[in-house]
Amino acid sequence: MIDLSSDTVTRPTEAMRRVMARAEVGDEQKGEDPTVNMLQDVVAELLGKEAALYLPTGTMCNNIAIKAHTQPADAILVDRQAHILRSESAGLAALSNVLVDQIDGDRGRFTAEQVARAITKGSLYAAPTRLLCVEQTHNFGGGTIWPLAQLRAVCEVARARGIATHMDGARLLNAVVATGMQARDYAACCDSVWIDFSKGLGAPGGAVLAGSAAFIQQARRYKHVFGGAQRQAGIIAAAGLYALSHHVERLCGDHENAKILADGLGSIPGVQVELPVETNMVFFDVRGAGLSHEAFLANLQSHRVRVGSVGDRLRAVTHLDVSQHDIQEALAVIKKVCRKQDS
Ligand SMILES: *Cc1c(COP(=O)(O)O)cnc(C)c1O
Repeated sequence: MIDLSSDTVTRPTEAMRRVMARAEVGDEQKGEDPTVNMLQDVVAELLGKEAALYLPTGTMCNNIAIKAHTQPADAILVDRQAHILRSESAGLAALSNVLVDQIDGDRGRFTAEQVARAITKGSLYAAPTRLLCVEQTHNFGGGTIWPLAQLRAVCEVARARGIATHMDGARLLNAVVATGMQARDYAACCDSVWIDFSKGLGAPGGAVLAGSAAFIQQARRYKHVFGGAQRQAGIIAAAGLYALSHHVERLCGDHENAKILADGLGSIPGVQVELPVETNMVFFDVRGAGLSHEAFLANLQSHRVRVGSVGDRLRAVTHLDVSQHDIQEALAVIKKVCRKQDS
Protein backbone atom coordinates (compact mmCIF):
# COMPACT_ATOMS: atom_id res chain seq x y z
CA MET A 1 0.00 0.00 0.00
CA ILE A 2 1.28 3.46 -0.94
CA ASP A 3 -0.40 5.50 1.77
CA LEU A 4 -0.59 9.24 1.03
CA SER A 5 -3.62 9.81 3.27
CA SER A 6 -1.56 11.58 5.95
CA ASP A 7 1.96 12.00 7.33
CA THR A 8 0.65 10.40 10.55
CA VAL A 9 0.87 6.91 9.03
CA THR A 10 4.66 6.72 9.34
CA ARG A 11 6.01 3.88 11.42
CA PRO A 12 9.08 4.14 13.64
CA THR A 13 12.23 3.02 11.85
CA GLU A 14 14.42 0.21 13.19
CA ALA A 15 17.00 2.76 14.40
CA MET A 16 14.28 4.75 16.18
CA ARG A 17 12.95 1.60 17.82
CA ARG A 18 16.43 0.73 19.09
CA VAL A 19 16.78 4.14 20.72
CA MET A 20 13.30 3.81 22.25
CA ALA A 21 14.08 0.37 23.67
CA ARG A 22 17.18 1.70 25.44
CA ALA A 23 15.62 4.96 26.72
CA GLU A 24 16.24 5.88 30.34
CA VAL A 25 12.82 6.31 31.95
CA GLY A 26 11.10 7.38 35.18
CA ASP A 27 7.73 8.60 36.40
CA GLU A 28 6.90 11.35 33.94
CA GLN A 29 3.96 12.54 36.03
CA LYS A 30 6.35 13.40 38.87
CA GLY A 31 8.79 15.09 36.47
CA GLU A 32 11.22 12.19 36.97
CA ASP A 33 11.56 10.82 33.46
CA PRO A 34 15.02 11.97 32.28
CA THR A 35 14.27 11.40 28.59
CA VAL A 36 11.02 13.39 28.74
CA ASN A 37 12.85 16.15 30.63
CA MET A 38 15.58 16.20 28.01
CA LEU A 39 13.07 16.44 25.16
CA GLN A 40 11.36 19.35 26.93
CA ASP A 41 14.70 21.15 27.32
CA VAL A 42 15.67 20.53 23.70
CA VAL A 43 12.33 21.83 22.38
CA ALA A 44 12.35 24.88 24.68
CA GLU A 45 15.79 25.71 23.28
CA LEU A 46 14.74 25.01 19.67
CA LEU A 47 11.73 27.30 20.01
CA GLY A 48 13.48 29.95 22.10
CA LYS A 49 11.02 29.69 25.00
CA GLU A 50 11.63 29.59 28.77
CA ALA A 51 9.97 26.24 29.31
CA ALA A 52 8.27 23.34 27.56
CA LEU A 53 5.88 20.53 28.43
CA TYR A 54 5.68 17.06 26.94
CA LEU A 55 2.11 16.02 26.03
CA PRO A 56 0.70 12.89 24.41
CA THR A 57 -0.91 14.67 21.42
CA GLY A 58 -1.02 17.91 19.52
CA THR A 59 -4.73 18.16 20.15
CA MET A 60 -4.01 18.27 23.88
CA CYS A 61 -1.43 21.01 23.28
CA ASN A 62 -4.10 23.12 21.60
CA ASN A 63 -6.74 22.39 24.23
CA ILE A 64 -4.41 23.15 27.12
CA ALA A 65 -3.13 26.35 25.52
CA ILE A 66 -6.65 27.64 24.84
CA LYS A 67 -7.66 26.72 28.40
CA ALA A 68 -4.66 28.52 29.89
CA HIS A 69 -5.06 31.65 27.76
CA THR A 70 -8.82 32.17 28.24
CA GLN A 71 -11.75 32.21 30.64
CA PRO A 72 -15.19 30.76 29.80
CA ALA A 73 -17.20 33.10 27.51
CA ASP A 74 -14.09 34.76 26.11
CA ALA A 75 -13.69 34.95 22.33
CA ILE A 76 -10.79 33.58 20.31
CA LEU A 77 -9.78 34.37 16.73
CA VAL A 78 -8.90 31.59 14.29
CA ASP A 79 -8.78 31.11 10.54
CA ARG A 80 -11.98 29.53 9.21
CA GLN A 81 -10.03 26.44 8.11
CA ALA A 82 -8.02 26.05 11.33
CA HIS A 83 -7.42 22.51 12.59
CA ILE A 84 -8.46 23.77 16.05
CA LEU A 85 -11.87 24.62 14.60
CA ARG A 86 -12.39 21.91 11.96
CA SER A 87 -10.74 18.81 13.29
CA GLU A 88 -10.72 18.69 17.07
CA SER A 89 -14.27 17.65 17.82
CA ALA A 90 -15.20 21.04 19.30
CA GLY A 91 -12.80 20.41 22.18
CA LEU A 92 -12.42 24.16 22.61
CA ALA A 93 -16.17 24.43 23.20
CA ALA A 94 -16.34 21.47 25.57
CA LEU A 95 -13.18 22.18 27.57
CA SER A 96 -12.70 25.95 27.40
CA ASN A 97 -16.22 27.24 26.70
CA VAL A 98 -14.99 29.89 24.32
CA LEU A 99 -16.65 31.64 21.42
CA VAL A 100 -14.85 31.28 18.09
CA ASP A 101 -14.65 34.23 15.72
CA GLN A 102 -13.44 33.13 12.30
CA ILE A 103 -11.16 35.03 9.98
CA ASP A 104 -11.46 34.37 6.25
CA GLY A 105 -7.79 33.80 5.45
CA ASP A 106 -6.01 33.18 2.17
CA ARG A 107 -5.19 29.47 2.33
CA GLY A 108 -5.04 29.77 6.12
CA ARG A 109 -3.13 33.06 6.31
CA PHE A 110 -4.77 36.36 7.14
CA THR A 111 -3.57 39.94 7.46
CA ALA A 112 -2.96 42.36 10.33
CA GLU A 113 -5.90 44.46 9.04
CA GLN A 114 -8.22 41.44 9.22
CA VAL A 115 -7.14 40.81 12.81
CA ALA A 116 -7.61 44.44 13.76
CA ARG A 117 -11.15 44.35 12.32
CA ALA A 118 -12.03 41.04 14.02
CA ILE A 119 -10.92 41.99 17.55
CA THR A 120 -13.75 42.68 19.98
CA LYS A 121 -13.02 44.85 22.97
CA GLY A 122 -15.79 43.29 24.99
CA SER A 123 -18.88 44.94 26.39
CA LEU A 124 -22.06 43.97 28.14
CA TYR A 125 -23.06 42.35 24.81
CA ALA A 126 -19.87 41.19 23.12
CA ALA A 127 -17.34 38.58 24.26
CA PRO A 128 -13.85 40.08 24.55
CA THR A 129 -11.15 38.67 22.24
CA ARG A 130 -8.49 37.06 24.45
CA LEU A 131 -6.55 34.84 22.07
CA LEU A 132 -5.37 34.76 18.46
CA CYS A 133 -4.43 31.37 16.98
CA VAL A 134 -2.26 30.76 13.93
CA GLU A 135 -1.25 27.50 12.27
CA GLN A 136 2.23 26.94 10.77
CA THR A 137 2.20 25.26 8.29
CA HIS A 138 -1.51 25.57 7.59
CA ASN A 139 -2.93 22.10 7.07
CA PHE A 140 -6.30 22.69 5.38
CA GLY A 141 -4.94 25.85 3.77
CA GLY A 142 -2.82 23.45 1.70
CA GLY A 143 0.34 22.94 3.77
CA THR A 144 0.93 26.66 3.30
CA ILE A 145 3.61 28.69 5.05
CA TRP A 146 3.08 31.92 6.96
CA PRO A 147 5.77 34.35 5.80
CA LEU A 148 7.64 35.59 8.88
CA ALA A 149 6.86 39.27 8.26
CA GLN A 150 3.13 38.59 7.92
CA LEU A 151 3.13 36.44 11.04
CA ARG A 152 4.95 39.15 12.99
CA ALA A 153 2.52 41.82 11.82
CA VAL A 154 -0.54 39.76 12.71
CA CYS A 155 0.74 38.84 16.17
CA GLU A 156 1.89 42.40 16.83
CA VAL A 157 -1.67 43.68 16.36
CA ALA A 158 -2.88 41.18 18.94
CA ARG A 159 -0.05 41.89 21.39
CA ALA A 160 -0.65 45.65 21.18
CA ARG A 161 -4.23 45.01 22.28
CA GLY A 162 -3.25 42.73 25.16
CA ILE A 163 -4.43 39.59 23.32
CA ALA A 164 -2.48 36.35 23.75
CA THR A 165 -1.12 34.52 20.70
CA HIS A 166 -0.85 30.78 20.13
CA MET A 167 0.77 28.84 17.30
CA ASP A 168 -0.40 25.38 16.28
CA GLY A 169 3.00 24.34 15.01
CA ALA A 170 2.17 20.71 14.26
CA ARG A 171 4.29 21.11 11.10
CA LEU A 172 6.38 24.15 12.07
CA LEU A 173 9.55 22.26 11.14
CA ASN A 174 8.23 21.74 7.61
CA ALA A 175 8.09 25.53 7.31
CA VAL A 176 11.59 25.77 8.77
CA VAL A 177 13.23 23.43 6.26
CA ALA A 178 11.25 24.92 3.36
CA THR A 179 12.32 28.51 4.09
CA GLY A 180 15.63 28.12 5.90
CA MET A 181 14.31 30.31 8.72
CA GLN A 182 14.91 29.40 12.37
CA ALA A 183 12.08 27.75 14.31
CA ARG A 184 12.64 30.26 17.11
CA ASP A 185 12.04 33.20 14.74
CA TYR A 186 8.55 31.95 13.92
CA ALA A 187 7.97 30.92 17.55
CA ALA A 188 8.99 34.35 18.86
CA CYS A 189 5.81 35.78 17.31
CA CYS A 190 3.59 33.81 19.70
CA ASP A 191 3.22 33.40 23.46
CA SER A 192 2.73 29.65 23.11
CA VAL A 193 3.76 27.22 20.40
CA TRP A 194 4.02 23.46 19.99
CA ILE A 195 5.44 20.91 17.59
CA ASP A 196 4.15 17.43 16.82
CA PHE A 197 6.38 14.36 16.63
CA SER A 198 3.75 12.08 15.14
CA LYS A 199 3.53 13.77 11.73
CA GLY A 200 6.40 14.08 9.26
CA LEU A 201 8.98 13.58 12.02
CA GLY A 202 7.98 9.94 12.07
CA ALA A 203 7.70 9.23 15.82
CA PRO A 204 4.82 7.08 17.09
CA GLY A 205 3.43 9.91 19.23
CA GLY A 206 4.12 12.90 21.43
CA ALA A 207 4.06 16.65 21.12
CA VAL A 208 5.76 19.43 23.09
CA LEU A 209 4.15 22.74 24.05
CA ALA A 210 6.41 25.70 24.85
CA GLY A 211 6.02 29.16 26.35
CA SER A 212 6.93 31.27 29.37
CA ALA A 213 7.70 29.54 32.66
CA ALA A 214 4.44 30.84 34.13
CA PHE A 215 2.41 29.61 31.16
CA ILE A 216 3.99 26.14 31.30
CA GLN A 217 3.35 25.92 35.04
CA GLN A 218 -0.33 26.51 34.35
CA ALA A 219 -0.25 24.12 31.39
CA ARG A 220 1.20 21.41 33.64
CA ARG A 221 -1.81 21.70 35.93
CA TYR A 222 -4.23 21.35 32.98
CA LYS A 223 -2.20 18.37 31.75
CA HIS A 224 -3.33 16.61 34.95
CA VAL A 225 -6.88 17.94 34.63
CA PHE A 226 -7.15 16.56 31.09
CA GLY A 227 -5.55 13.24 32.02
CA GLY A 228 -2.43 13.76 29.97
CA ALA A 229 0.21 13.06 32.63
CA GLN A 230 1.87 9.72 32.03
CA ARG A 231 4.39 7.34 33.61
CA GLN A 232 7.41 6.00 31.67
CA ALA A 233 6.76 8.22 28.64
CA GLY A 234 10.52 8.41 27.99
CA ILE A 235 10.07 5.48 25.61
CA ILE A 236 8.05 7.78 23.34
CA ALA A 237 10.09 10.91 24.10
CA ALA A 238 13.22 9.05 22.98
CA ALA A 239 11.63 8.72 19.54
CA GLY A 240 11.06 12.49 19.55
CA LEU A 241 14.71 13.19 20.39
CA TYR A 242 15.80 10.77 17.68
CA ALA A 243 13.46 12.43 15.18
CA LEU A 244 14.84 15.89 15.95
CA SER A 245 18.37 14.78 15.14
CA HIS A 246 17.61 12.45 12.20
CA HIS A 247 14.28 13.34 10.57
CA VAL A 248 14.22 17.12 10.23
CA GLU A 249 16.53 17.76 7.26
CA ARG A 250 14.89 14.95 5.32
CA LEU A 251 11.54 16.81 5.32
CA CYS A 252 12.99 18.60 2.24
CA GLY A 253 12.66 15.33 0.36
CA ASP A 254 8.96 15.15 1.29
CA HIS A 255 8.48 18.64 -0.13
CA GLU A 256 10.27 17.67 -3.34
CA ASN A 257 8.06 14.59 -3.65
CA ALA A 258 4.94 16.70 -3.14
CA LYS A 259 6.02 18.99 -6.00
CA ILE A 260 6.63 16.00 -8.28
CA LEU A 261 3.20 14.65 -7.36
CA ALA A 262 1.55 18.03 -7.99
CA ASP A 263 3.26 18.38 -11.40
CA GLY A 264 2.15 14.88 -12.39
CA LEU A 265 -1.44 15.43 -11.19
CA GLY A 266 -1.60 18.76 -12.99
CA SER A 267 -0.77 17.07 -16.29
CA ILE A 268 -3.81 14.75 -16.06
CA PRO A 269 -6.79 16.13 -18.01
CA GLY A 270 -9.61 17.20 -15.71
CA VAL A 271 -7.51 17.18 -12.52
CA GLN A 272 -7.26 20.49 -10.66
CA VAL A 273 -4.37 21.04 -8.24
CA GLU A 274 -4.32 23.79 -5.59
CA LEU A 275 -1.11 25.74 -6.22
CA PRO A 276 1.49 26.52 -5.23
CA VAL A 277 2.47 23.43 -3.27
CA GLU A 278 4.63 24.83 -0.46
CA THR A 279 5.45 21.83 1.74
CA ASN A 280 4.36 18.19 1.94
CA MET A 281 0.67 18.44 0.99
CA VAL A 282 -1.13 18.39 -2.32
CA PHE A 283 -4.83 19.25 -2.43
CA PHE A 284 -6.61 18.36 -5.65
CA ASP A 285 -9.93 17.65 -7.33
CA VAL A 286 -10.62 14.95 -9.92
CA ARG A 287 -14.30 15.65 -10.59
CA GLY A 288 -13.33 17.39 -13.84
CA ALA A 289 -12.15 13.96 -15.04
CA GLY A 290 -15.69 12.64 -14.62
CA LEU A 291 -15.15 10.87 -11.29
CA SER A 292 -16.80 11.41 -7.94
CA HIS A 293 -14.25 11.55 -5.14
CA GLU A 294 -15.82 8.46 -3.52
CA ALA A 295 -15.39 6.46 -6.73
CA PHE A 296 -11.85 7.78 -7.18
CA LEU A 297 -10.82 6.84 -3.63
CA ALA A 298 -12.33 3.34 -3.90
CA ASN A 299 -10.69 2.80 -7.29
CA LEU A 300 -7.32 3.91 -5.97
CA GLN A 301 -7.66 1.66 -2.95
CA SER A 302 -8.17 -1.36 -5.22
CA HIS A 303 -4.80 -0.47 -6.77
CA ARG A 304 -3.25 -0.26 -3.29
CA VAL A 305 -2.91 3.54 -3.29
CA ARG A 306 -4.55 5.68 -0.66
CA VAL A 307 -5.10 9.45 -0.53
CA GLY A 308 -7.21 11.35 1.97
CA SER A 309 -10.18 13.66 1.70
CA VAL A 310 -10.91 16.89 3.56
CA GLY A 311 -14.47 18.03 2.98
CA ASP A 312 -14.91 17.96 -0.80
CA ARG A 313 -11.17 18.19 -1.49
CA LEU A 314 -8.68 15.36 -1.95
CA ARG A 315 -5.43 15.53 -0.02
CA ALA A 316 -2.19 13.66 -0.65
CA VAL A 317 0.54 13.99 1.96
CA THR A 318 4.16 12.94 1.45
CA HIS A 319 6.21 11.55 4.33
CA LEU A 320 9.02 9.33 5.58
CA ASP A 321 7.43 6.11 4.34
CA VAL A 322 6.92 7.11 0.69
CA SER A 323 9.83 7.24 -1.73
CA GLN A 324 10.09 9.11 -5.01
CA HIS A 325 9.53 5.75 -6.70
CA ASP A 326 6.27 5.34 -4.74
CA ILE A 327 5.19 8.78 -5.96
CA GLN A 328 5.79 7.77 -9.59
CA GLU A 329 3.87 4.55 -9.01
CA ALA A 330 0.96 6.39 -7.36
CA LEU A 331 0.89 8.83 -10.28
CA ALA A 332 0.75 5.97 -12.78
CA VAL A 333 -2.24 4.49 -10.90
CA ILE A 334 -4.03 7.84 -10.69
CA LYS A 335 -3.47 8.42 -14.43
CA LYS A 336 -4.89 4.98 -15.21
CA VAL A 337 -7.92 5.52 -12.97
CA CYS A 338 -8.66 8.93 -14.49
CA ARG A 339 -8.10 7.76 -18.08
CA LYS A 340 -10.39 4.75 -17.69
CA GLN A 341 -13.12 7.19 -16.78
CA ASP A 342 -12.38 9.27 -19.87
CA SER A 343 -12.81 6.47 -22.42
C1 LIG B 1 -2.42 16.72 13.46
C2 LIG B 1 -2.69 18.12 13.77
C3 LIG B 1 -3.11 18.50 15.05
C4 LIG B 1 -3.40 17.51 16.13
O1 LIG B 1 -2.29 16.75 16.49
P1 LIG B 1 -2.47 15.27 17.08
O2 LIG B 1 -1.09 14.93 17.53
O3 LIG B 1 -2.98 14.43 15.96
O4 LIG B 1 -3.45 15.35 18.19
C5 LIG B 1 -3.30 19.83 15.29
N1 LIG B 1 -3.10 20.76 14.35
C6 LIG B 1 -2.69 20.44 13.11
C7 LIG B 1 -2.46 21.51 12.10
C8 LIG B 1 -2.50 19.11 12.78
O5 LIG B 1 -2.14 18.79 11.53
